[in-house]
This record gives sequence, C-alpha cells and structure tokens, in this order.
Amino acid sequence: MTGPAAEIQMQFLFALRSRGVTDKRVLGAMEAIDRGKFVRGIFADRAYEDMPLPIACGQTISQPSVVGLMTQALQITPRDKVLEVGTGSGYQAAILAKLARRVYTVDRHARLVRAANEVFADIGLTNITAMVADGSFGLPDQAPFDRIIVTAAAEDPPGPLLAQLKIGGIMMVPVGQSNAVQTLIRVHRSETGFDYDEIRPVRFVPLLEGLGKDG
Ligand code: SAH
Repeated sequence: MTGPAAEIQMQFLFALRSRGVTDKRVLGAMEAIDRGKFVRGIFADRAYEDMPLPIACGQTISQPSVVGLMTQALQITPRDKVLEVGTGSGYQAAILAKLARRVYTVDRHARLVRAANEVFADIGLTNITAMVADGSFGLPDQAPFDRIIVTAAAEDPPGPLLAQLKIGGIMMVPVGQSNAVQTLIRVHRSETGFDYDEIRPVRFVPLLEGLGKDG
C-alpha cells in the first residue's frame, strides 16, 4: 500500500487540526483513508491540499477540512447506520465507513458510483453500499438512519430525509441557493421534533432532481 509521504501526511493532518478538526476518531479515520485514491488525472498531485478538486461528471470532491468538520459534527458511534447523499468520489463515504457500522451512499451519476465502488474494493472497505438513486428521496428500504449527511446543497432539508432520521439522530445538510454561499445546518431529531443549528458558511454543488444521463 502506498500513501502520501510522511511529511505530506503530517501537513495534511496539521491543516485539518488548524481548521478545527480536533476529534481523535475523525482525525484517525482521515489519516487512514488516502485521499489520493479518490482524485484522478491532472489534479491527483493536489490530493493532500485542503481544497475541493474537480472529479468526473462536473462534480467536486469536498475540501478535507469541510469533510472533517461535517463528520465531527455528526458524532458517529461505531453502531451507527449512516446515509450519505452525494457519493461523488467516495472519499467522504470512506471516512464514514471507518467510524460507523454501515454506510449507504447514493449518487445520481452511475459513473461516479462505479468509480467509488472500485476504490472501496481496492482499499478493502466492505461496510459501504453505494447505489445510483435520487437521494432527495433518501433510501426508504434501509431507513431509518442514525445519521444522515448530504454533500450537495438543497434549498431546504428534504422532507423524506427528515422522515428517515431516527429519533436522537443527527443530519448535516448544506442549505441555500446553488452558486451562492450556503449554510451548513445540523438537524437534531428529538422526541418532539427537529432542532436546527447553523454551523458555518459552505459552498457545495447543488442537489439536483432525477438521475444523471450517464451509463
Ligand atoms: N461526498 C463527495 C462529494 C460530493 S459532490 C465526495 O466525498 O467526493 C456532490 C454529489 O452529489 C455529486 O456527485 C452529485 O452527482 C450528487 N448529487 C446531486 N444531487 C443528487 C441527488 N438528488 N441524489 C443523489 N446525488 C446527488
């Protein structure tokens, strides 16, 4: 197994800590998962910079510190079943898989799901199920979920996702118009309803309706 050189890995982890990713389990997961496996082509040599980068289908792999902060805010426990909407490169799902019992991740682009599944197999992650689906509707067959993370921006937290969150569960979702600064929201479901906290400004690609037109 090849990973980044020790010094590059140290800088990568230092950048995460300096941007507020302090949870030891999250840092451990991000140390274990090589972001270089999820970035292809001309941007591959920038995989260890704290920047979003282009991937196939006009999408992006999120900035590592944003992945870290969202994961940290989810407060995942080893028994959790997690849903991610927006597989993209698969990087965020791989981090989740290190922390949770089981991860379901969906993307509207079949090509991205295929590529992500190849990386999961390559690095030996067996507790992720990646599928092609419109994640706005969640994954009713596997619901409810302990944790839900949406990695594309919605105008509002989608109703089906709220319905598929367990009581006591946490959902992270960027909310706002596409191409503008959005707000990362943490939703907590209690016995009596939903509490919403604004975490920080973020910028994600939009959550789109329907499936992508690729094979
Ligand atoms: N989490 C990813 C980055 C996601 S980019 C990573 O770690 O690399 C956002 C992704 O959301 C894109 O791949 C896009 O295709 C997907 N997406 C957008 N709308 C969607 C929808 N309605 N259902 C499922 N996936 C969607």
